[in-house]
Amino acid sequence: MDREHGEHLTRTTERGSFCVALCSCGWKGPARRSRDRARTDAQEHETAPGAAA
Ligand SMILES: [Zn+2]
Repeated sequence: MDREHGEHLTRTTERGSFCVALCSCGWKGPARRSRDRARTDAQEHETAPGAAA
């Protein structure tokens, strides 16, 4: 990925009964049963994009 375009615009999307966090950089969080948890995944990714999931 191109580090110079370090903008991370996250959103969450429903996937069946799960909710998944997505980012403009192509990152995707794990499927969560809770939308709040998926949103937390997204925030953690924005805070530390390079961190391991
Ligand atoms: Zn990202």
